[in-house]
Amino acid sequence: MSKKKNDGSRYRPATALVLAGRSPFEYDGFVNTPLFRGSTVLYETYDDLIAHRGRYTYGRRGTPTTDALAKSLAEFENSAGVVLTPSGLSAISTALLAVVKSGDHILVADTVYRPTRNICDTVLKRLGVETTYYDPLIGSGNKSLFRTNTTAVYLEAPGSQSFEMQDVPAITEVAAAHGAVSLIDNTWATPLYFRPHEHGVDISIQAGTKYLGGHADINLGTISANEATFKRVLQTHGDLGINPGPEDVYLALRGLRTMGVRLERHMASGLRVARWLAARPEVLRVLHPALESDPGHALWKRDFDGACGLFAVILKPEHEKKIGAFFDALTLFGMGYSWGGFESLAIPFDCTGYRTVTPWNPGGPAVRLHIGLEDPDDLIADLEYGLQQLA
Ligand SMILES: *Cc1c(COP(=O)(O)O)cnc(C)c1O
Repeated sequence: MSKKKNDGSRYRPATALVLAGRSPFEYDGFVNTPLFRGSTVLYETYDDLIAHRGRYTYGRRGTPTTDALAKSLAEFENSAGVVLTPSGLSAISTALLAVVKSGDHILVADTVYRPTRNICDTVLKRLGVETTYYDPLIGSGNKSLFRTNTTAVYLEAPGSQSFEMQDVPAITEVAAAHGAVSLIDNTWATPLYFRPHEHGVDISIQAGTKYLGGHADINLGTISANEATFKRVLQTHGDLGINPGPEDVYLALRGLRTMGVRLERHMASGLRVARWLAARPEVLRVLHPALESDPGHALWKRDFDGACGLFAVILKPEHEKKIGAFFDALTLFGMGYSWGGFESLAIPFDCTGYRTVTPWNPGGPAVRLHIGLEDPDDLIADLEYGLQQLA
């Protein structure tokens, strides 16, 4: 044990991604923190047992494997702590349950991930928590929506279907002035490209299912909380018993090591394909905040360090009738939900049925694309063939 301990915190992100959460010489020199399976943790003596003395007490409450991931993520989030959950959606529900009580009122962006809306409209409603959806572009204009019982403001930037950006610091500043907790779904940017706590957000949520896992083979959620909220998050997480399985945590740790290089490629290829699409005659517009032409570009540029591979394209209205032929002609783009894996995906979407504050009139059929790690020229050729079917 003569080697000095590396916690990664003094290094730039690419280096920290390699070092974070690893202590090889605690595990006989093996590079990776092992996958610990366990419920029961034994105590050596009666005194230790009675005093709950020991780093670990019970599998549900954490293992060296979950600690390695949670502590690494807390480093990147620059937060008081991170807890892990078995899915992105359970991270969202756990975080919301940690900050609301019966009789409260919360503000939720009209563009949030649809199952988030469902939690508000079912579980929270049943518990006596009222939700008001707000225009994601409202900025500091949301002042008038606050009531004396408004305790939380929920953001997602950009929306993962329609890609509206939000003015995060403006919204969180108003929330803080009203004593409300702010939460954000940061799955699109990941903590590598947007650090919510540096923009006034109390609780930052990530569907680790997407880029953290990165291989379309796990569901996982992460909740990062600042000093003001971590105790509540940790308590609720423990009270509800929402712990992920060790295999998924291990795979997320493995994904973390390559997340930086994967995201660089997703971003570069995504922008290439987005620019190519924007110049196509079949395309009305491309919704991608990192494109100069996007209405959210100024906010993205001000607050974000990068973009992932997820964006949308609106085709001209006359292509509605042959849209099925477009999808069926694609061979490299799979049709399926989720995103963030190594493979490219395409799905149609329509926000008309569930938005309540901001109407969705894109002007033509909407297609969401996830640009994977394939060669972008092959992806462009695939899309070109698909678009030709619209003629
Ligand atoms: C996928 C997703 C989630 C939920 O993650 P699951 O692991 O599928 O529960 C939450 N938010 C966003 C933006 C997502 O895309």
